[in-house]
Amino acid sequence: MSTARVELSEEERAALRVEIQKRDGQRCFYCHRNFKRGPMRRRSFDHYIPYCMWRGWEVSNLVLACVGCNLAKGAALPWTVAVLLLRYVEQNPGWRLVDVPTDSLHTNDLEAAA
Ligand SMILES: [Zn+2]
Repeated sequence: MSTARVELSEEERAALRVEIQKRDGQRCFYCHRNFKRGPMRRRSFDHYIPYCMWRGWEVSNLVLACVGCNLAKGAALPWTVAVLLLRYVEQNPGWRLVDVPTDSLHTNDLEAAA
């Protein structure tokens, strides 16, 4: 399996942005502030479950976030997902977590939705 990152065309990014805005509105998913032109308040795509753990561009795993929130989150797994995952592992002792690469922060995402 290839680990190369899949990049989207401008048209694909625009279509994703429209779908996400229909679902979540036109504010940052995390801080709920409006997007602005400033470098930390620009709109960006964020993989809710980090790209290094769930490779793909499905709308179900994407949110629009301001650059500041996106950088602050980085490759962290949202705590709600982490709790569900740990509960699953606890209930299924044969299943275990594996190491994942930490190279999931890609500047292309930060520029993609602007
Ligand atoms: Zn934000």
